[in-house]
Amino acid sequence: MKYVLVTGGVVSGLGKGVTASSIGVVLKACGLRVTSIKIGAAITFNGLICVADPYLNTDAGTMSPFEHGEVFVLDDGGEVDLDLGNYERFLDVTLTKDNNITTGKIFQSVIEKERKGDYLGKTVQVVPHITDAIKDWIESVAAIPVDGKEGPADVCVIELGGTVGDIESMPFIEALRQLSFSVGQDNFCLVHVSLIPVLGVVGEQKTKPTQHSVRELRALGLTPHLLACRSAQPLLENTKEKLSQFCHVPAANILNIHDVPNVWHVPLLLRNQDAHDAILKQLNLLSMAMPPSLQ
Ligand code: ADP
Repeated sequence: MKYVLVTGGVVSGLGKGVTASSIGVVLKACGLRVTSIKIGAAITFNGLICVADPYLNTDAGTMSPFEHGEVFVLDDGGEVDLDLGNYERFLDVTLTKDNNITTGKIFQSVIEKERKGDYLGKTVQVVPHITDAIKDWIESVAAIPVDGKEGPADVCVIELGGTVGDIESMPFIEALRQLSFSVGQDNFCLVHVSLIPVLGVVGEQKTKPTQHSVRELRALGLTPHLLACRSAQPLLENTKEKLSQFCHVPAANILNIHDVPNVWHVPLLLRNQDAHDAILKQLNLLSMAMPPSLQ
């Protein structure tokens, strides 16, 4: 299994969900089978970002829609984040409640195992027991076909909710670091979504917040292969050069996802910047894939 991990930096509500779904669309258009996993959420509701986490609730069913936004109900009855709806619509797949991982679900499974005595008297800790449970969950859910065909998908797109550095996401970051190491370089691609703001008085695209969030990610043991930069206007060439130099990411792997009137334009933005080439190269899949057929 090949994994594409989408993380976010600087602020929540940047469009990680839309970016992750759009990456799935572009890979699917290259002839690959794609599944997805969502870890926690940062939900937009009436233009407000409400909850940023991987949260302790087991699922979204018990959360106030005023705080969390609309609950999306899957075919198996799972009450999950709205983003799962994005994945189903963008990728034409049918997901299960296990495709939405929350801190609550992971802790519950570990505590149930501990009560049954499955740890054989060992001291149960965040590392390795919670992190192992996260890795096992990801690996087993990624192998379940969601597109009605037989056998596992080629690529699993994992979206980590919240912002890198949040206390809530630390066990997940550590588990994903371990996963990236165990599956090997050719099977793991990290896309970091970040913000490029423009300060009114200066009128210049600022790269420093992204530099800091990449540094934070590296300090946690994860290296971004691609940067997806959210900005109001398209990125200028010298902004890209700066990002490349200071974030240690090749210029060809710096994608710009500027504001568009409709999120369905995002897969086209990615295709036009050859995002599929950069991702497929990282995943050593160039020979298996075909040029994307997107309208
Ligand atoms: P996150 O997963 O980072 O919380 P979402 O994917 O839920 O963010 O997106 C947050 C909001 O931003 C949504 O309302 C989405 O429609 C909007 N959005 C995302 N990307 C873009 C874009 N490129 N242009 C305009 N709106 C966008």
